[in-house]
Amino acid sequence: MVSLVRGVNYSLMATSFCPSLPQHFKPTPIIKSSSFSFKVFSSLSSPDETPTRVGFLGLGIMGSPMAQNLIKAGCDVTVWNRTKSKCDPLIDIGAKYKPSPAEVAASCDVTFAMLADPESAVVVACGEDGAASGMSPGKGYVDVSTVDGPTSKLINGQIKETGALFLEAPVSGSKKPAEDGQLIFLTAGDKSLYEKVAPYLDIMGKSRFYLGDVGNGAAMKLVVNMIMGSMMTSFAEGLLLSEKVGLDPSVVVEVISQGAISAPMFSLKGPSMVQSKYPTAFLLKHQQKDMRLALGLAESVSQSTPIAAAANELYKVAKSHGLTDRDFSAVIEALKVKLKE
Ligand code: NAP
Repeated sequence: MVSLVRGVNYSLMATSFCPSLPQHFKPTPIIKSSSFSFKVFSSLSSPDETPTRVGFLGLGIMGSPMAQNLIKAGCDVTVWNRTKSKCDPLIDIGAKYKPSPAEVAASCDVTFAMLADPESAVVVACGEDGAASGMSPGKGYVDVSTVDGPTSKLINGQIKETGALFLEAPVSGSKKPAEDGQLIFLTAGDKSLYEKVAPYLDIMGKSRFYLGDVGNGAAMKLVVNMIMGSMMTSFAEGLLLSEKVGLDPSVVVEVISQGAISAPMFSLKGPSMVQSKYPTAFLLKHQQKDMRLALGLAESVSQSTPIAAAANELYKVAKSHGLTDRDFSAVIEALKVKLKE
């Protein structure tokens, strides 16, 4: 089927880029503004200019489904992960494998990285056998991990020294949006690389924002996750309070879902939290890392963030109670312990 939006044949543009683009990756109508665009293949300037070999470093909860979507879309993907066994399911569906980030970067036109935190992002990009060692003019590095601005600028500097281009592109959205190709990319850095990789972002995501200089994408992501982290702790307090005063917390979830403070996160996480179940999508240690980095960002501009600071303390308590590798909604367990004390 050929879809025509504003006179542009997106299906043909998309399929010339990834020949076996499946039907569900066909573009949807777009709305564009100067700073963002929705699910679109329109920025594909010329198929000749589009990188064809894609590297992917870091195959955790987010990286695996993101790389999988690129492979399923017919892209030529080479993967690497610190724990090699996580590469195997992707190799089984057609990915190539290289034993170091440097070799992935050397063999690919553009390399994506989805690492845990600032430390791992720096090691994988700039460490021994890191991606920068394999970079050269004409190549691009896109870091989609959630890190702080200074980390992103450090990696940008190392990549730029090789003559390659850099884009930071942290994502909003969790495990399910990653699986469904519905992430939101918050990008900043080299505009020409942004334009080159737009078709890949559109396979993995539903929208993308270009925010200017390196650091702005990281800042946007940290602001969003600071709000999310505070919302979750407040939600947890509300659920426990409701129970204590004899209300049914399931009804609280239902009431919230129908009112002005309704949020997909509450509807998604609430029913399982009420049952003390926490299916893993976003690790608590990563949420606490984001609170810590957001507080650092606030500190850097002397902005007061008392609510986020209190929420951060609760995530720290949760970590001290062994909830580090649970979903971040398990923060409610820390509150249960606190209430008992
Ligand atoms: P994850 O499942 O913990 O995956 C982390 C990845 O980083 C793994 O591939 C891990 O390798 C690698 N890694 C960790 N330390 C490393 C090191 N020292 N050297 C090399 N590789 C290292 O986390 P995730 O949920 O995919 O999240 C990845 C990033 O996306 C984080 O920055 C997170 O804050 C952000 N994020 C997550 C979500 C979400 O809902 N999950 C949503 C948006 C953004 P191993 O497999 O060897 O451990």
